[in-house]
Amino acid sequence: MTTEAEAQRLDAADPLRHFRGRFDLPEGVLYLDGNSLGPLPNSTRERLHTVIDGEWGDGLIRSWNRLPDKLGGGGEWITLPQRIGAAIAPLIGAQAHEVIACDSTSVNIFKLIWAALRMQAGDDGRRKVVLSEPGNFPTDLYMIEGLERQGLAERRLAGVDDIEAALDEDVALLMLTHVHYKTGRMLDMARLTAAAHDRGALVLWDLSHSVGAVPVELARAKADFAVGCGYKYLNGGPGAPAFAFVAERHLHALEQPLTGWFGHAKPFDFDDDYVPANGIDRLLCGTPQVLGMSALESGVAITAEAGIDALVAKSRALSEFFRACVSRLLPDLPCVSPDDPAGRGSQLSFRHEHAYPICQALIARGVIGDFRAPDILRFGFGPLYIGYEDLLRAAEHLAEVVATGEWDREEFRARAAVT
Ligand SMILES: *Cc1c(COP(=O)(O)O)cnc(C)c1O
Repeated sequence: MTTEAEAQRLDAADPLRHFRGRFDLPEGVLYLDGNSLGPLPNSTRERLHTVIDGEWGDGLIRSWNRLPDKLGGGGEWITLPQRIGAAIAPLIGAQAHEVIACDSTSVNIFKLIWAALRMQAGDDGRRKVVLSEPGNFPTDLYMIEGLERQGLAERRLAGVDDIEAALDEDVALLMLTHVHYKTGRMLDMARLTAAAHDRGALVLWDLSHSVGAVPVELARAKADFAVGCGYKYLNGGPGAPAFAFVAERHLHALEQPLTGWFGHAKPFDFDDDYVPANGIDRLLCGTPQVLGMSALESGVAITAEAGIDALVAKSRALSEFFRACVSRLLPDLPCVSPDDPAGRGSQLSFRHEHAYPICQALIARGVIGDFRAPDILRFGFGPLYIGYEDLLRAAEHLAEVVATGEWDREEFRARAAVT
């Protein structure tokens, strides 16, 4: 059932509906790209005002510690990475002291691949294969390649359905993205982690398209390492810091290559020699980006407040509803995402040879999804701010743009730098 009355009924019964008003989305925009850049929470605008005017402007360097009450309290910038890590932990089935916010996803991937290779370097130096899938997110593959160029890693790629066969005694690390950015396919984390462990490999999961939208149980799956992105479903803002997870059992032995002073046991002793901090703090490198961290903390707080169970339930219901709308209105448009809502992320991808201009024509109508080369139209469903009626409207716009050939104009073909 994809009628307007049904959409309105679902919206009225949606337990997360009151979160919509807490985001600053422009009038007339149907935003289906929160899996690329989450929208601006009102609380983040306020928080950044406080951080800029009060903590930076008035508090100045004192804000690294807790500000005195006469300056409004707040500050305590120094613990932002740990505080945000602790708030993300319950969303990914981890303990607070196993997660930290820092750097970018790409940099965290580099640190953790290096760390895993270091742990696996046996006497014979054989185990240095990092196994991943072709078509994984580019940065993930490029980071393995960078380590390969330094002679530290050997990159091996195998289709996800052949991963288990490709796991042999040379594989040091299996590194996969949990929800595929293009198709939305979600992998079985527990099964693949167990298969890798059986062959003596460690596992690093990229949760960029998972956190805040799908169930993630790192502890239950016995995952070794994970990274994830702050600016997608966590609504942390453009270029937000990322996060990294290291299972408690590895925290003691973990070494990472970027031995900056923030990962030191006592940074403010200003010693000449590096001694890693205890625990997850050793993943830090340099001074945290306070403005970005503050926005991320505010975005994570809203996600945590909604609770992962409610977010997952709504994400699945939204994607099912959109799929039903599109299959009624455009029965010939192939969906490349898995049929089972429990087997995919909070997104749906469709294949069309004119995906790029269709996407541009939709944006011109205020329906913001995105295009992924060469022929994918991708729509993400942020469960905090999307409703069912929004999705019905978006599907109607899509059907009109395709049926009328409205996309077939010069203005919709020109490609910008970011697609
Ligand atoms: C978005 C995304 C990234 C982003 O990496 P950055 O360092 O933030 O540019 C990495 N991996 C995956 C799978 C992603 O979806």
